[in-house]
Amino acid sequence: MTGILYHEDYLNHMTGMGHPERPGRVTVITEALKKEKYKGKLIWDEPRLATTDEIGYVHSQAYIDRVKEAAETGPKNLDSPDTPVSKGSYKAAQRAAGAMLTAIDGVLDEKYTTAFCPVRPPGHHARYSMAMGFCLFNNIAIGARYLKHVHNIHKILIVDFDIHHCNGTEEMLSGDNDILLFSIHQYPHYPGTGLSTKLYAHSGGVLNAPMPPGSGEKEYMRVFKGQLADQVNMFMPEFVLISAGFDAHKDDPLGDINLESESYYRLTKEVVRFADMYCDGKIVSTLEGGYELPVLAESAAFHVDALLEAGT
Ligand SMILES: [Zn+2]
Repeated sequence: MTGILYHEDYLNHMTGMGHPERPGRVTVITEALKKEKYKGKLIWDEPRLATTDEIGYVHSQAYIDRVKEAAETGPKNLDSPDTPVSKGSYKAAQRAAGAMLTAIDGVLDEKYTTAFCPVRPPGHHARYSMAMGFCLFNNIAIGARYLKHVHNIHKILIVDFDIHHCNGTEEMLSGDNDILLFSIHQYPHYPGTGLSTKLYAHSGGVLNAPMPPGSGEKEYMRVFKGQLADQVNMFMPEFVLISAGFDAHKDDPLGDINLESESYYRLTKEVVRFADMYCDGKIVSTLEGGYELPVLAESAAFHVDALLEAGT
């Protein structure tokens, strides 16, 4: 079974006319997951709000206050012109981070084997004290710290297949040699980081796979079955987290990677194999990018199809 962590609060983060990171993104995904074929397979679970202490695992208190205040006095841009906030943004961001925590608890309580969180705002560009690239709180980094602090789970594999490098996640977690952070992304591209790899002797660390524009599933699969599999087999994770961005789709306007919707089934299936081998299929995945609505919905559904096969 797969948990789906969705809440209408995600629609109240308003980014303004013409912004690609818009409320319709999560609506099309939840509509796709309500189709007949998913009946009886998905558990719709209500995500809680992350507390300021939990968000404080990876962000400064001053920054958390600044997000709250900007939302209350919004709409306005926070730290950069591409990251707008509105009245509902703080609560949406708290609940986007909270979805990770509810999902982690749900998996560890064996309510479901895997979970997917179609949330917004996304998180992987958010830095310690700075909003960036449509992101307010770094949902996946908060989840990783929560696994360690609250559940005493230390060996965590994070797979980020969003087309953009997860600069925020890397900044927050790269000093932590219990975590293996893998990012595959277009390079050169926004935000300009993600070229270097830094692995530790016992195989945690950061594994970056920068991909030239024009790469497709074949090139991605070579990395998943090669470098990534080699590293994961040494690391042997106790839990897997996914930053699931779907903007490497060939029809997405924000990049030049040529994945098909179905590629997200096959690539996720590789991650499911790791989870099955080392941690009874335990995976929590959270939405990052993906901006072309019909293929975003299709790709996310293929991703969930693979998650449904974990632990079987
Ligand atoms: Zn992205």
